[in-house]
Amino acid sequence: MSNLPQGRTQPRPSWDEYFLKLAMIASERSTCPRMHCGCVIVKDNHVIATGYNGSLPGQPHCEDEGCLIENNHCIRTAHAEINALAQAINHGGGVNGATAYLTNMSCTDCAKAMIACGIKRVVVFSDFHDTKATEFYTKSGVKIEKQDMPSTNIDYDLKSFTSAVKTDKSN
Ligand SMILES: [Zn+2]
Ligand SMILES: [Zn+2]
Repeated sequence: MSNLPQGRTQPRPSWDEYFLKLAMIASERSTCPRMHCGCVIVKDNHVIATGYNGSLPGQPHCEDEGCLIENNHCIRTAHAEINALAQAINHGGGVNGATAYLTNMSCTDCAKAMIACGIKRVVVFSDFHDTKATEFYTKSGVKIEKQDMPSTNIDYDLKSFTSAVKTDKSN
């Protein structure tokens, strides 16, 4: 039907689309049913770290024992941004000058942590209201770019992946 190159069923994703998809995949590991968030920190188009909101090591998950609500927020989990920064500290290089790909706009505290660590650009699907994140990011010179969220799901057409094509004769 299309002008797509041979072997493609969808256009080749841009870098931003690619890393946002990775952030969505990271969010699948979240354990708080109130919100599943993913974060991918990228420098020079190279993934430095990934994170999702989940309980602290050794502590129960919201989805197993219920959320821990204070002031109408679940405070049990470390947020995706914090977990990604923690992973960068322990396993990666610095994040100064890096881009953060987020499934949801940061809360105020995560925005402050990201700014303090030197994140310079945020690419995000959806807005998160009721925080100072956008204001703080903007005032500190962090560029925010909103992308359209996929309407329902991210499609993986396995037939389009040559690595997934079975080598039997029926094809
Ligand atoms: Zn929770
Ligand atoms: Zn947060």
